[in-house]
Amino acid sequence: MKAGFVNIFGKPNAGKSTLLNGLMGEKMAIVSHKVQTTRHRIKAILTSDEYQVIFSDTPGIIDPKYKLHEKMMQAVKGSLEDADVALLITDAREDVAESHEIFKNLRLKAPVIVILNKADAIKDKAILEEKKNFFEQQEYCREAIVISALKSDGLDILMQRILHYLPEGHPFYEGDDISDLPTKFFVGELIREKIFLLYQEELPYHTTVLVQEYKEKNTLTKISADIIVQRETQKGIILGEGGSMIKKLGTMARKDIEDFISRKVFLELYVKVRPKWRDSDIYLKEYGY
Ligand code: GDP
Ligand code: MG
Repeated sequence: MKAGFVNIFGKPNAGKSTLLNGLMGEKMAIVSHKVQTTRHRIKAILTSDEYQVIFSDTPGIIDPKYKLHEKMMQAVKGSLEDADVALLITDAREDVAESHEIFKNLRLKAPVIVILNKADAIKDKAILEEKKNFFEQQEYCREAIVISALKSDGLDILMQRILHYLPEGHPFYEGDDISDLPTKFFVGELIREKIFLLYQEELPYHTTVLVQEYKEKNTLTKISADIIVQRETQKGIILGEGGSMIKKLGTMARKDIEDFISRKVFLELYVKVRPKWRDSDIYLKEYGY
């Protein structure tokens, strides 16, 4: 049996969360076109008769600008230390230089697979080959693989190569859990994803979600969640004219949550103003960071 930790690193927007979802065949991590959607380290457990792989998706590698960022970077550092295999992912459309600089400085001990993602968005396959060669010549890189996380292209081969490097061992987690985090956490994340989709510019970055109630009733699951913002004006934007925006948000989130837990959901959303929550240790702790 092979068992171990496989950690995904890369710049914001490289496609880490999309890859995690593709490998799991399940929506574990929220995805948006905005950078820094992922705030936590999410562990996803894939178990079969032959292996147990514990993937972790991390927030992108960034320079901390506020306390929430510092917590996010602690999550990245934690992943650096316990990886059995590291997946370093880059957007294949970008120049290799910046990712190369980051990857080189990580000084990982674990075997590294460099992943050139978003191959579907590149017409000229010779360019892909060139970039693949570039990474394979680097000392830190065992091999480079071209994929499209979005289209699930190349994921079978990637999985075979991951298993090749994974050590022999016993499973770390029992049963058929797919994460070490509770369902409540994923529910909050699905709501947060919709905030990234529906609202413009900076607002999603000033917002977090706290699931207050999660109760399984006979025919449905009742969930209530607080949407935390920093200012009154932001509360107004979240609500929208006559509550139109939060209604939309609620409908979209409810559908995804129902898919995730395979049950009917009754969802209540409340908006709360907590000035400067992103810089308050007390609030950050309360909100799970
Ligand atoms: P993360 O910040 O590294 O977790 O990146 P995400 O997984 O959130 O993806 C960032 C954006 O890139 C999203 O809009 C994804 O839909 C998009 N994306 C991810 N993988 C691919 C891919 O293989 N092809 C294309 N065309 N877009 C992708
Ligand atoms: Mg992400």
